[in-house]
Amino acid sequence: MKQTKQRIKELLMAKRLKLTPQRCAIYEMLTARTDHPTAEDIYRTVKRAYPMISQNTVYYTLTALKEAGLISEVNFGHEHARFDANMDRHHHLVCVSCQEINDLYDETLDRLSMTAKKGRQYTILGHRVEFYGYCKRCQGKSKSSSRPEGRSRRAVQ
Ligand SMILES: [Zn+2]
Ligand SMILES: [Zn+2]
Repeated sequence: MKQTKQRIKELLMAKRLKLTPQRCAIYEMLTARTDHPTAEDIYRTVKRAYPMISQNTVYYTLTALKEAGLISEVNFGHEHARFDANMDRHHHLVCVSCQEINDLYDETLDRLSMTAKKGRQYTILGHRVEFYGYCKRCQGKSKSSSRPEGRSRRAVQ
């Protein structure tokens, strides 16, 4: 959810993160987006407002935000990590063709519990379900190709 500049500062300060203009800009941009951008996407966007920003600063900031629990890294076996500032309980719909990631809210999925024995060896902090498939746009394009069954997996955050 998009946050105001003031709220961005408060959230960063609450996590004892230094308030640099670039850091605020990166976090603000992430809260305004729902497409789970890559570090590269973030770099390109922030560079427009801060031409001097380096790719390293972007990576470093993303790591700091992630360690502070303000954003999460979501990677679905794609080449690049994608970032998500939506820390509300939600799940993902992932297009295996265009790699679009959409947020999905579903109370039934929120209530999932584990029956496998192995899970009991863990202190579970949460879970997120990912559904793989073809988005509406890509369905038309891939009519001829064979479509794998949608699969889902659970990941501990
Ligand atoms: Zn797609
Ligand atoms: Zn998400």
